[in-house]
Amino acid sequence: MLSYQHAYHAGNFADVHKHLVLYAIIDHLLRKVSSVTYIDTHAGRGRYPLNAEETLRLGEYRDGAEKLWKERGRLAEDPLLADWLEGLAAAQSRQNPTELDHYPGSPWWLAQRLREQDALRLFELHPREHEHLSRQQLADRVRQVHGDGLSGLIESLPVATPRLCVLVDPSYERKEEYGEVAATLLEAMRKARHGIVLVWYPLLPAGRHEALLDALKAGGLRKIWRSELRVASPQSERGMYGSGMLVINPPWGLDRRLEDAMARLAPVLGDASRHRGDWWVPE
Ligand code: SAM
Repeated sequence: MLSYQHAYHAGNFADVHKHLVLYAIIDHLLRKVSSVTYIDTHAGRGRYPLNAEETLRLGEYRDGAEKLWKERGRLAEDPLLADWLEGLAAAQSRQNPTELDHYPGSPWWLAQRLREQDALRLFELHPREHEHLSRQQLADRVRQVHGDGLSGLIESLPVATPRLCVLVDPSYERKEEYGEVAATLLEAMRKARHGIVLVWYPLLPAGRHEALLDALKAGGLRKIWRSELRVASPQSERGMYGSGMLVINPPWGLDRRLEDAMARLAPVLGDASRHRGDWWVPE
């Protein structure tokens, strides 16, 4: 039974973190002409109006995307943040927006920069979320699948293009999902050794993400860069105190570029906010 709906959390600090990492990776991939298949295993709705009842109820975007939006002049001194903020502006309903009225989800960030030669496959299991996603006007080359993204990923591999980029962004409603994600990734990397894979995980006081990280390391995967954004201390929070991303096979130079951008972004989210990037498993 699926109950999670991303609309309640759209534009929060974790979304900003994950979409900035995703944006930076797409940027690197676009430097070469050879085609890319993108797979988003847990797509959500695609684009979220911030005045929707669900989104207003928790208003999490106010401590995430909205803080960045208000500081966009200063943040744009960093080249990656400048481009990302331009992307965010393009997702608004008005030209030259002054106010933030929408927050774009991963399908939007991916579809916006899709070229003729690239492909995008979006998986979404929740019937209503999938219906919302189907109503989005995305590019022709986008294939939307109503189904399980983890088995869908394995069935999609190997892909027909020379390059592959996968985003795995589950809701972790069940604690078993950490193990299921790890098992899927180990199998996926056997079928697509050079693919770039991004995995998001929440930092919760229970520390459940450790099982995911340890299983990937124990499974023998190499070249994993980790980016963690903490907005509070684990002791002071009952809920999510931070956002984590693993990048398997990151493009060269991504770590430096993201560390520069995150060093500028983190203080805007609050005094306790810190970013840490490290090689969880080196080459
Ligand atoms: N990736 C989206 C973004 O960045 O905008 C947000 C995704 S949200 C965190 C997780 C989504 O996964 C929810 O919409 C949920 O319905 C969906 N979901 C849950 N289990 C799934 C599964 N096994 N396969 C595909 N989608 C699933």
